[in-house]
Amino acid sequence: MATAGEISNKAAGLAHHNGSATRARDAHRRSPFTPLLFELSAEGRVGADVPRREPGQIAGADILGADLCREDLPGFPELSEPQVTRHFLRLSQLNFAQALQFYPLGSCTMKYNPVLNDEVAALAGFTRLHPRTPAHLAAGALELMARLEAALAEITGMDAISLHPAAGAQGELTGLLCARAYFRKRGENRRKVIVPDTAHGTNPASCTLAGYEMVVAKSNARDFIEAAEVRRLADGDTAAMMITNPNTLGIFEPQIAEIAAALHQKGALLYIDGANLNALMGIAKPGHMGADIVQLNLHKTFSTPHGGGGPGAGPIGVSRALEPFLPVPRLKKTGSGWILDCARPDSIGRLRSFHGNFGMLVRAYAYILALGGDGLAQASRAAILSANYIRKRLEAHFPAASAEPSMHECVLEHDLEKSAGISTFEIAKRLLDFGIHPPTIYFPLVVHGALMIEPTETETKEVLDEFIAAMERIREEALTDPDLVKGAPHTLALSRVDEAEAARRPILRWQAK
Ligand SMILES: *Cc1c(COP(=O)(O)O)cnc(C)c1O
Repeated sequence: MATAGEISNKAAGLAHHNGSATRARDAHRRSPFTPLLFELSAEGRVGADVPRREPGQIAGADILGADLCREDLPGFPELSEPQVTRHFLRLSQLNFAQALQFYPLGSCTMKYNPVLNDEVAALAGFTRLHPRTPAHLAAGALELMARLEAALAEITGMDAISLHPAAGAQGELTGLLCARAYFRKRGENRRKVIVPDTAHGTNPASCTLAGYEMVVAKSNARDFIEAAEVRRLADGDTAAMMITNPNTLGIFEPQIAEIAAALHQKGALLYIDGANLNALMGIAKPGHMGADIVQLNLHKTFSTPHGGGGPGAGPIGVSRALEPFLPVPRLKKTGSGWILDCARPDSIGRLRSFHGNFGMLVRAYAYILALGGDGLAQASRAAILSANYIRKRLEAHFPAASAEPSMHECVLEHDLEKSAGISTFEIAKRLLDFGIHPPTIYFPLVVHGALMIEPTETETKEVLDEFIAAMERIREEALTDPDLVKGAPHTLALSRVDEAEAARRPILRWQAK
């Protein structure tokens, strides 16, 4: 029989073993230079076996056609299959991903998206459907789109939905172009759009792209927009107000109905940016708040893994008066099913090819069906609970920027800049060492050094507790060992890159010297 000592030695051995495995893995993760495929290349090494029908013929010529094949591709890497596999798998391990880590990136709703929805979107009946397939041969896909439109109309309380726009920002532009067409039809030439000082950056951008002049509405001391401010700004030259609800501080706009009334009184429209629907779905509807136009971000709220610039889907919902202006094609019911109707004289036309990002429409429909109305409401409530839990647990050292209750995200502040010379940026970088993706920082602009945290409904309490512990620990470090925080991250392949340079002059391909 083993003695207690032997058992604990074994346990210690095991722990040691696990420890070294972790270290080895970390050492590899830390290695800053993964060689390029070009550097791994060795002349004559082959990773694929392409048949040659005739001796002397270029490999692959009878599949591709000889005119598409080259005998020699100067500088092209010559590699074995395992080299290629390892290279790309190794690169994939350098990524931060919601599937691997907590990713509380405020405003972006980086939540877990059920893999089942990816599987559904990958069904051959959907993926093999060419976008030019005639409507009568794509009845199932059109039926799905029609049902999704109906579900989103129900969720938003709007009269008509267009699935056309490719992202939230394009939804904004589409909505504003519909507003412009609406006024033109009425013979009015309104030039102004009101946008709050807390707005997401895409709102002023869409405003300008649509040819409008932006007027800034100031939020009050309690961080929301008062109807009185809207009454002050709105006049016969105001086309619309764009307002995000909940706003970018994660606060519900309590005067939204009164704001709608103030705008309508001047003949102006209310545009609600619905990218934050993760706080509302199943509970409150933009249509009931008086919205004439709303855009949704399916990739945020309705299940599509997103990030790194795509993919997106930004359907818009409108009131009946704006329906004629929606982009073409529109789904239209006929006796035998749905057709794609382009004969719509008042339509603003097309903003993109074909019918929207169809794979995401499938995911969204699957998500909505799986959760149902009660499930969607439960998801929103859990998202709100998670944000408020973090806010409450961190309030001693990271107080909320607003005294109003948080919805699905909380915006926090800190005094570490004053007390320890540590910026929000450095806190964010240090979080990476704890295996946590940083929250959105320095946004909204109205909050100095903001940390905008959106935990979403899909994280367990343990994960939220780990995040809270990491934040407290970073604060301790900032006060006792500030250099540790200033030099972070210490555990990633790359520590700090020149972000401006990386965005403006990215090096996207290898070139032979
Ligand atoms: C994300 C977001 C947008 C823009 O959506 P994209 O799909 O990234 O274009 C607009 N408004 C708000 C409030 C958002 O959070």
